[in-house]
Amino acid sequence: MTVPSIAIVGSGPSGCYVAQALRKAWADAPISLFERLPVPYGLARYGVAPDHPGTKAVTNQFARLFERENIRFCGNLEIGRDITLNELREHFDVVVLTLGLAGDSRLGIPGDQLPGVYGAGQLTRLLNDHPDEVDTAPVLGERIAIIGNGNVAIDLIRLLSKKADEFAGSDLSPQSLAWLQAQPVREIDVIGRSPAAQAKCDTVMLRELGKLNHACFSLADDALLGEPQSPAEQARLDAFKALIEREQPAEGVTIRLHFGKVPQAIIGQQQVEGLRMTATQNGAEQTLDIDNLITAIGFNQHPQQTLHRDQLCGDADLNLGRLDQGLYCAGWLRRGPRGTIPENRADARLVADAIIAAVNSGRLPLGKPGELPLPAHCVSYQAWQQIDRRELEQAGPQRTRQKLRSRADMLAAARTQ
Ligand SMILES: Cc1cc2nc3c(=O)[nH]c(=O)nc-3n(C[C@H](O)[C@H](O)[C@H](O)COP(=O)(O)OP(=O)(O)OC[C@H]3O[C@@H](n4cnc5c(N)ncnc54)[C@H](O)[C@@H]3O)c2cc1C
Repeated sequence: MTVPSIAIVGSGPSGCYVAQALRKAWADAPISLFERLPVPYGLARYGVAPDHPGTKAVTNQFARLFERENIRFCGNLEIGRDITLNELREHFDVVVLTLGLAGDSRLGIPGDQLPGVYGAGQLTRLLNDHPDEVDTAPVLGERIAIIGNGNVAIDLIRLLSKKADEFAGSDLSPQSLAWLQAQPVREIDVIGRSPAAQAKCDTVMLRELGKLNHACFSLADDALLGEPQSPAEQARLDAFKALIEREQPAEGVTIRLHFGKVPQAIIGQQQVEGLRMTATQNGAEQTLDIDNLITAIGFNQHPQQTLHRDQLCGDADLNLGRLDQGLYCAGWLRRGPRGTIPENRADARLVADAIIAAVNSGRLPLGKPGELPLPAHCVSYQAWQQIDRRELEQAGPQRTRQKLRSRADMLAAARTQ
């Protein structure tokens, strides 16, 4: 039986899960996975917080694809720059785009472009030593506001209020720790539009906040708690209450939780100075004095991304991820920036099933070689293993690894024998 040749673009969780599902369908199909960075795994490496090594360990499962399932890793190749999408489509029967969405969504209110406004994606990439971010040096002041109350906002509260000894067992680098320690953050106002019961974060994340040794939680005066509509919402509300009612440490970062508040404008001339917001319940206006603001309200296309989601997806019906004949998308690119790593597995299966159905029905013509001349700077899986080995070897005390922070260092390690 003829099998399709397959290219997957993006080696984050979605790309890996798509590869897994398609390998199951066709044991002999040539499958290549292209990645713009010299290193694999997308946000599992560069989004998931450094102090959540258990979550990052999903990469061990993905590694088996390359080590045992004959999936070819082609790193350091950006599709749309090093190889065009058309070239790829000429050489592979099926191309699946799993590019993710790496840009921070903007608030869309006056002042949201002022210096001093940072995105949660940018800061989490910085703390994870992403090579595109390590040369930026955001400076936080004493009083900051975090907009959003999803899991990414919770990650930031935790990372910004931990002291050095609370990072044991993480892969936080000495540079990221030094950056954290240099920020004089004393107060964090966390602003959520929904009532506490309906906040977007997971209860387990809130319980983890309860273990912080240097964070003092309180509820803003007029915070809207809301009525729980399900056992999950009740559990979330209980977790918030437990956080507020716990015995707070004698000193640490003051964290005030606001619920039912909508940001209206960021105030400031040259730099962020304040945030004006209104209460959803009665429209009451409130202004906070702040030095910086961090948006944690979701993601969209990164301005520097070479393949544009809008151009790619257009009006296509993305229910099954089909963009065009032989061209599909999956993961965050397909369904938007929602969901955890495991949720991308179901998404990948759905798109893989659509591909399998198209091939089995004969609707998708096959016969493209599944090979194309690759630029010399392509990083193979074996070369990535050299990088991986170096990172593990140079891990400092109480750290799981020390990531290489620049492309140059990665490529130098990749070349070692
Ligand atoms: C800050 C943050 C923290 C998170 N924490 C958790 C958590 O603790 N637990 C959890 O379960 N989920 C977490 N998530 C969610 C999880 O990371 C996502 O569900 C998942 O990573 C989405 O997978 P993806 O493959 O669609 O996108 P991504 O992981 O973003 O992968 C996309 C990949 O495509 C590559 N790429 C992009 N453009 C190109 C191109 N043109 N050519 C080649 N390659 C390209 C990128 O470099 C990247 O490697 C977090 C997300 C964020 C943003």
